[in-house]
Amino acid sequence: MIRTIESIIGEINKVKNILVVGHIMPDGDDISSVLSLTMGLEKLGKNVRGVIDWEIPGYLEEFPYVKEKIKSYDCIKEFPAELIISVDASSPDRIGRVYDHFKFARSVVIDHHATNTYFGNINWVDKFGATAQMVLRLNKMLEIEYDKDLSTVNLLGIATDTGFFKYSNTDATIFKDVAWLVDKGGDIGFISNMILENKPYEHLMLYKDFLDEMRFDDNIAYSHITLDMLKKYKIPPKDSPSFVGELRSIKGVEVAITFSEAEPNVYHVSMRSKNWFDVSKVAVHFGGGGHPRAAGFSKETSDLKKLEKDVVETIKLLMESYK
Ligand code: 5GP
Ligand code: MN
Repeated sequence: MIRTIESIIGEINKVKNILVVGHIMPDGDDISSVLSLTMGLEKLGKNVRGVIDWEIPGYLEEFPYVKEKIKSYDCIKEFPAELIISVDASSPDRIGRVYDHFKFARSVVIDHHATNTYFGNINWVDKFGATAQMVLRLNKMLEIEYDKDLSTVNLLGIATDTGFFKYSNTDATIFKDVAWLVDKGGDIGFISNMILENKPYEHLMLYKDFLDEMRFDDNIAYSHITLDMLKKYKIPPKDSPSFVGELRSIKGVEVAITFSEAEPNVYHVSMRSKNWFDVSKVAVHFGGGGHPRAAGFSKETSDLKKLEKDVVETIKLLMESYK
């Protein structure tokens, strides 16, 4: 691990212009990783551009520095990137059109997904609870000074990817990193207010409809959010909540699935498991990826019912192999 970080530092030392890229459908860990690395490299005196080829969901857009430091794809066309560092993305399709630029620059992949396809010149893929922890290690080795802002931004990803320190990926390194960041001024109360206590009223109204559509098949719970359901409450698709955690929280449920229509007839499928089932295998089977307890994929179809049936049947078949 140390040797890989050292070769990443070697690449960073060689260049001035660095592009830091996050993944499509960004989550808290992704935003945190892009921001923390961008801010860290800026402190080193580099010319850095953070980019995500996707709209930022409302609940993350308001977070400090997001609007200022994370640009959309068009803004990078003229950027003379010598090095591209991808964070929290497990495969090239996850970084959208930015992957086209890998031809023209050296590339580094920093990620914590076991399903990673090693698509960079240097790949640091490790079993951390959050990619933000990996960025913290890199920044520390670069001797970047952590102030209150950088600590809070870096803490965001560690908080969100561990479900605020309660998922099974919450190991001792998480608490050590959190203690270090909080000591440097990281504001966990602010993060939890921004992320957990900031739900638009319309999302709760949508939740009623989501529950009306909920179905069970043995220990599998699933439901969907269609564009029509979003339209009813004037929620833009980029701000679609997934509610998949709520489904998983039901007593007796091992696997929870939410099918969210992202654009007409294109569904993002979010899966979560509670104790033993590996949902990343199902995601990979359908062309996606993720972690054993949280994974997903996207699928184009005009037949949602059939997609639901296919996914549930695949899970049931895989469950047989555990017996
Ligand atoms: P979510 O269900 O919150 O969208 O994603 C859960 C996990 O699965 C995240 O770690 C995310 O990166 C991964 N994931 C979700 N969708 C995809 C996808 O389409 N492809 C890949 N490779 N990973 C995905
Ligand atoms: Mn992550």
